[in-house]
Amino acid sequence: MQSYQGFEQGPIRPPSEAASLLLRVTRNCPWNRCTFCSVYKKQKFSLRPVADVIADIDSIHRFATQLQEGCHSWDLTAENLSPSEWPALVAARNWLAEGMKSIFLQDADTLVIRPENLVSILQHIKMRFPQVERITSYARSDSVARISPRNLEEIAAAGLNRIHIGMETASDNILKMISKGVSKETHVTAGLKAKTAGIELSEYVLTGIGGSEFSREHAIETADALNRIDPDFIRFRTLHLMDSVNLFAGTPDIRYQWSTDLVQAEEILLLIERLEKINSSVKSDHSYNLFQEIDGKLPDDKQLLADILRTFIGMAPEDRAIFQVGKRSGHFVQLSDMEIPVRRKQVEELCRQSGITPENVDDQLHRMVQERMRRGIPF
Ligand code: SF4
Repeated sequence: MQSYQGFEQGPIRPPSEAASLLLRVTRNCPWNRCTFCSVYKKQKFSLRPVADVIADIDSIHRFATQLQEGCHSWDLTAENLSPSEWPALVAARNWLAEGMKSIFLQDADTLVIRPENLVSILQHIKMRFPQVERITSYARSDSVARISPRNLEEIAAAGLNRIHIGMETASDNILKMISKGVSKETHVTAGLKAKTAGIELSEYVLTGIGGSEFSREHAIETADALNRIDPDFIRFRTLHLMDSVNLFAGTPDIRYQWSTDLVQAEEILLLIERLEKINSSVKSDHSYNLFQEIDGKLPDDKQLLADILRTFIGMAPEDRAIFQVGKRSGHFVQLSDMEIPVRRKQVEELCRQSGITPENVDDQLHRMVQERMRRGIPF
C-alpha cells in the first residue's frame, strides 16, 4: 500500500459548501459512466486509507490551532514545512477565515466506503472540531440504497448531517439513456432512507437532460419521485454539453436533441406545478441557470416560483431573447433587471453587435457555450 502522500482535496464541491473545509475521503467517482459528466473522466477511483484521512484532519487541526494562537502563516511556512504540508496550511487558513463551521467530504460518493470507516472519520472530525455544525457529502443513490438503515443511523449519529444526490432525472428511460446506473425506484429508496436516518437531503435536477423529445417525461417523472421523497432541498442545474458528447449513448438508436430555453422553462414550470404535498426548499443556485431567482419553500411559495417561469414564457419573443442574452452575459440576474434602462440598453447593443435575434438566440447561445467549453472556461 502507498504511504501517506499528504493533505489532498478533490476538484469540486456544491456552491452551498463554499465556506466548508474540503476533506477528501475517496478519489474520483466509483461509477464514472454518466454520459453527461466529465469531472472525473479518465481518473481512476480509489479509497483513501482511513489513516490518511485522519492524518489530514490532524494536519488541519494542528495548523488551525497554531493560527488561532496567533502564529502567522508565513511563520509556519518558515518552519521547514514539506511541500505536502502546504496545502493543509492553506486549507486551514481559508477555513479559519470562514469560521470553521462546516466540512464537505469529497469526492463523488463518500457513502460508498464501509460504514464503520465513515463513522470513524466522522467521530475523529467531531473529536478534533467539536464546534463544526454541518458535515455533508455527495452520494450516489445506488450507494445509499445499499446501506442498512441501522448503518445509516450510525453515520447520521456520528455527524453526517446532509447528503447531496445527483438525481438528474427520475425518468427510467432517460436514466438508462444517460447511463446513470440507477433507476427511479433506487432514487426514491435512497432518498427515503436518508431522510428516515435523519440526514438532510439535497436532490439535484438537471434541466434539459431529456432534450426537447423527453422534456415532459423528465418533468413528470422527476416531480413524481420528488413528491415521494420530500427532500429538504431541490436544486436545479442546467445541462451544458459539448456537441461531440453522445448523451444518449445508453440507447444508440435515439439521438439527443438539445432543448431551447423556452422548452426548459416549460419543463421547470411543469415540474414545479406537479410538486404536491411536500415541504422542500427549491433553489436554482448556480450562476449559469437562466432562472437563478427561483428560491422558495414549498408549499407556500409554489405559485411565486411558477410565476417566474410563466412571466418568461409569456414574454414577447424579443424580450425573451433580451433576457436570455442579458442573463448569460452577466448583465441580469433576475427578470426584473430588464427594467433597469442602462442594463437593458447594454444588452440590446450586445445583441445588435452580435447579430442576435429572437429567431437565432438559442443557436447563438448554444454556440457560445460550445466555444466556452472548448476553451475550458468554467461555468
Ligand atoms: S455519479 Fe456523479 S460524479 Fe460519477 S459520473 Fe455520474 S454524475 Fe459524474
